[in-house]
Amino acid sequence: MLPQSTDSRLHELKELDRKIHRLAAVQATLEWDQETNLPPSAVEERSEQLALIEGLIHELQTSPYLGPLTADLAETTLPSDEDRALVRLHRREYDRASRLPRDLVERQARVVGVAQPAWALARRENDFDAFAPHLAKLVALARERADLLGWQDHPYDALLEEYEPGTTSAEVKAVFDGLETGVAELVKTIAARPQVRNDFLSCAYPRGVQERLGRQIATDIGFDWNAGRLDVTTHPFCTTLGPRDVRITTRYDENFFNMALYGIIHETGHALYEQGIDPRLGVSILGSGTSLGIHESQSRFWENFIGRSRPFIDHYFPVFQQAYPESLSDVDAEAFYKGVNLVEPSFIRVEADEVTYSLHIILRFRLELALLDGSLKVGDVPDAWNQLFTKLFGIRPANDAQGCLQDVHWAMGGLGYFPTYTLGNLYAAQFFDTLKQALPDWETLVGRGEFAPLLRWLRTNIHRHGRVLPAGELCRRVTGQPLDPSHFLRYLNEKYGAVYGL
Ligand code: ZN
Repeated sequence: MLPQSTDSRLHELKELDRKIHRLAAVQATLEWDQETNLPPSAVEERSEQLALIEGLIHELQTSPYLGPLTADLAETTLPSDEDRALVRLHRREYDRASRLPRDLVERQARVVGVAQPAWALARRENDFDAFAPHLAKLVALARERADLLGWQDHPYDALLEEYEPGTTSAEVKAVFDGLETGVAELVKTIAARPQVRNDFLSCAYPRGVQERLGRQIATDIGFDWNAGRLDVTTHPFCTTLGPRDVRITTRYDENFFNMALYGIIHETGHALYEQGIDPRLGVSILGSGTSLGIHESQSRFWENFIGRSRPFIDHYFPVFQQAYPESLSDVDAEAFYKGVNLVEPSFIRVEADEVTYSLHIILRFRLELALLDGSLKVGDVPDAWNQLFTKLFGIRPANDAQGCLQDVHWAMGGLGYFPTYTLGNLYAAQFFDTLKQALPDWETLVGRGEFAPLLRWLRTNIHRHGRVLPAGELCRRVTGQPLDPSHFLRYLNEKYGAVYGL
């Protein structure tokens, strides 16, 4: 039976909200443990434990009284932004969870379970045909999912909604089209200039020193070690296990400077967002980042916009040189700055530089759109990939392992995820332009290693809101405009104009 007053109905929703949130935190803890510590013999039982928690969460999210409860509250005028957001988000979760029958969710889990190892083998053996039947099933499931969730202009919209709520494929397409021309032009101009050197980044970098420096920089930019940890995993990530418990991971390559250091700065950027959310929102659906795109804007802000900026390198280069006297003996800050900003068309997305990165995403977005609306058949993916790649980058992958088989996302059923990476860059550039107006001396601050004013600005304007404001509205409130790719293009042109003397 539904309680009568708005207050008690809200109270009921909040109790349920806390319960779901705590179960999700338990799930995240088990997943974090699986990636960092789990002994191999425990893998099977762990997946049973995770399935159990997943089922309990789904049961709560779709509980029969949640529908009427949130419908009712949505009709009521609620005084606070937080309460309205709480109702909106639970209503959305309820709606989406109840549109997807258990049978589909289980089928998807089974297909992914088989597709992932099949993908890993296919990539290793460069054998797209071996992965194609799995991909066909995953695309069919994604389409089925989209149809059940509902869409108007393109089935892709339903998938995008999961990762970037409120953003449509038409909006992404318009933004990406604008970006493509500008980036392609810049890449061409850079290619005509003499290349900068970065051989010194691939020398001996002992792991212990890398870890010490990574932890130092994470501390300097504001990571709270009393409310977080850093561990080692094959694929780095950031996860939140509770309001005061944010875990980041990294991996080390003893012969490459960038991987661990920039990886740690990236994940710290995600963690600073989570650690900066208003504690009042903590144990709630409201207590996390508002979308993957906004999340990525925070990681890339610290990794690239700050971590690869001239004042940042000026501040840290003496520290690097002291830590690695042999590898960096014949390099100065200027050369190091240029080296970590080298631009070059390359095949692998995760190794791409700041400029060409977006082209990798644009390619995947176009192919996913076509796969989902049926205009591209799975069997034609390698050809379509190679053709579009050649058009965008001017080079052609020699095989599918360095082409359409390189990413795990499709094998995980993650169609619709890729655009959030580039949206992150675009949001970061737009936020950065607003931040510079508030802190015109940001270069002096960064050059002195004083990051607190920058973090404070991010906390006040972005972090503290958690999921109370959707991405689009957050962007408008912070910058006064909707998302506009021209900020990112201007940033790239200015920065790389200086690096390459254009
Ligand atoms: Zn990230």
